[in-house]
Amino acid sequence: MSEKKKLRPASLVVSAGRPKVSADGELNPSISLSSTFHAPNTNGNGYGRYGNQTWSALEDAISALEGGRTLVFASGMASISAVFNILPHGAVITASKNGYSGTMSLLKKLEADGRVEVRYVDVSNTDEVLAALPGTVLLWLESPTNPALEVADLPTLISAAKQLNCGVGVDNTFATALNQQPLEMGADISMNSVTKFLAGHSDVLMGSLSTKDDALFTRLEDQRKLGGAIVGPFEAWLALRGIRTLAIRLRQSQESALEIATRLSNHPKIKKVRYPGLANDPHHERAKKFMKGFGAVLSFEIDGTAADADKVCSASTLISQATSLGGVESLWERRHRWSAESPTIPENLIRLSVGIEDVEDLWSDIQDALGYY
Ligand SMILES: *Cc1c(COP(=O)(O)O)cnc(C)c1O
Repeated sequence: MSEKKKLRPASLVVSAGRPKVSADGELNPSISLSSTFHAPNTNGNGYGRYGNQTWSALEDAISALEGGRTLVFASGMASISAVFNILPHGAVITASKNGYSGTMSLLKKLEADGRVEVRYVDVSNTDEVLAALPGTVLLWLESPTNPALEVADLPTLISAAKQLNCGVGVDNTFATALNQQPLEMGADISMNSVTKFLAGHSDVLMGSLSTKDDALFTRLEDQRKLGGAIVGPFEAWLALRGIRTLAIRLRQSQESALEIATRLSNHPKIKKVRYPGLANDPHHERAKKFMKGFGAVLSFEIDGTAADADKVCSASTLISQATSLGGVESLWERRHRWSAESPTIPENLIRLSVGIEDVEDLWSDIQDALGYY
């Protein structure tokens, strides 16, 4: 092969993170099972908690998509914890009051411990976020939010925060780098729960942080070395294998998600559908400005009680009633079955992660399940 061409995302997911081409060399990275490496350790590995060739291959692939340098962690929460852990004592974090329940619980705990101060905002309300910025050390944005599917005006918020010298991290899990590019928009960190769309098969837990800032990268890498929340080489290999089909999985899931969201909007038993891809969604116009696609997670409120919503979720036969999202298999659940879910999320809200099954089979399963109350 001659010199590398600039590739589009659907090609990058397939080609990034492969070993250098050599005669009879391997096409895929191998699973490197060594806890230690021969001296002199000039290539940065040294010890299995510091580096591993299989991680590097995966990190190169995520880096190619996010446009920065990447570190992988043992879970999405481990990567978020690493970011919060490098903040100085008493730092002010501005974050969504409606975000992923694990992040919310972690922030509440850090706040209760007196470790940080948190300003909770509605990230879709740009003026409210801007008003909270002075004095903020880290603006932590999640967009679209889990499970409310609110879209923050990322370009506006990121540039306003950077003008005030606030650090900005974006949880990119719902959109993925294929749909939006936080680093390109000026964010310091783009974070993924690799567990979800990137790995894509509900068989791996992992997180990632990407950044263009070398000094920040080193601080986060030190945090991983010392915090020890590292990934297993096999999990890294599985996640990279999942990324190979990310573009095609996401394309199918997004197409089906829009179709299902549209049909649900017209269903007599549904009160409200949240999906930024719907033309009449309150955040659609904003999302269109910087998102290439709108993801494959939607949520909806049924015209019924929490108990009715539970009946619906347990009545499906193709869609599994389970938490998590971003896999090839469709999953749904009533979010408030978890006590950690934010009180701002309605009791009867069902979150649906649309997989790659046939959309007509999914729709028929949903219609039948809605008939159970
Ligand atoms: C799942 C999720 C996380 C946490 O990731 P884990 O891999 O489960 O630790 C963080 N943010 C969002 C938006 C998520 O959906």
